[in-house]
Amino acid sequence: MDLNIKDLRAEMPNYQTYKDWNRDGPILGIAVHHSATADRITGAPVGNARTFFDYHVNARGWAHGGYNYVIPGSGEIEYALDEKISAYHAGFKDPDNSEGLERGQYWNNHYLAICLSGWFSNDRTYRDADGHTHMMPNNYTGPTESQMKSLLSLIHYLRQKYNVPVENIRVHRELAGNSTVCPGHNFDPAELREKIRAADQPEPEPSPGPEPDSQPQVNPGEHVLLLPDTDKYLASAMAYIWKFQPDVSFAVNEAKGRWKYVTVVGNKEDISDAQLDRLRSGGAVLVQRIAGDPDAVQGTLDGLVEANLRFVAVPPPPEEPTPEPEPVGRTYTVQPGDSLSLIARNMYGKSSMWTIIFEANRNILSDPRLIRPGQVLKIPFVPE
Ligand SMILES: [Zn+2]
Repeated sequence: MDLNIKDLRAEMPNYQTYKDWNRDGPILGIAVHHSATADRITGAPVGNARTFFDYHVNARGWAHGGYNYVIPGSGEIEYALDEKISAYHAGFKDPDNSEGLERGQYWNNHYLAICLSGWFSNDRTYRDADGHTHMMPNNYTGPTESQMKSLLSLIHYLRQKYNVPVENIRVHRELAGNSTVCPGHNFDPAELREKIRAADQPEPEPSPGPEPDSQPQVNPGEHVLLLPDTDKYLASAMAYIWKFQPDVSFAVNEAKGRWKYVTVVGNKEDISDAQLDRLRSGGAVLVQRIAGDPDAVQGTLDGLVEANLRFVAVPPPPEEPTPEPEPVGRTYTVQPGDSLSLIARNMYGKSSMWTIIFEANRNILSDPRLIRPGQVLKIPFVPE
């Protein structure tokens, strides 16, 4: 892929005052923005690094402009702010760090910013000098072909340079803590990542081979590593975080309803089973606990890294109860929070009779402590 980068860094306003600055921490991802600037008459993209930086610095008073790269409608790639400097592109106010995202600076500290000139939504409006609102024509409501081509080449180059996984190529609205539609309703981040993946593998796999595992496909922002006791476990989780780049949070009570996949690191005294159930009832489809002392936890997580598995093996969904000969007795569908002894107490009036249920279900249970909600257990008839 040929890459034609126009280096404008030294020409940006205030360059001398910030040129030696350095970002806090490594580059982990890339965020794509649009400028939300379009020609009122034609709808075409307007603006470039110089006009945006002039606005950010001279009108808004920022120390420097908000993006590392700008791609105007022409498709030229403008290098505007050194990669080693954090762009002000996705910060938010969080003085108490309740989001666990470096007081709202996580994305600025660790994500490069690329801005495409243009405004990628339909039915855009503007106000004239008299305060009247007008529609812009629905032309140029997505990136131009040359912008898209340049974006893909630039991302390819930056990913190789910083070893960025494709999941960390995100658009502004996918960054937690940011409330925006940037880069517009018509810019589909999944499609972008699909194109990047396709470019990664120009040759189709010659032989499909066996499926390596049946782990869920995780999109950016869908998976969180919850560390209720960060002091105790953060060091154990570093390799895992580095490898899979989940969101990381210790704010257990803020986590409900925010993530589809949750990996909890900690024992029951750090976070209770009831709290895990609350996450499930908030819509999380997978909630896994990695328990043990920090060494054991590190062993488990490093094992996952080694095996390139984001989650501890996910068992297949419970089999449809096959219409085999009617079992003698009843069946019971495991509910969240159940244990075999609890079920035995409800079914037989005696929790010690859990062994009967276990033995009757050895075909689906290998460990009496491990039962899953949704499993259908045979409850044998026991004479009084
Ligand atoms: Zn943006």
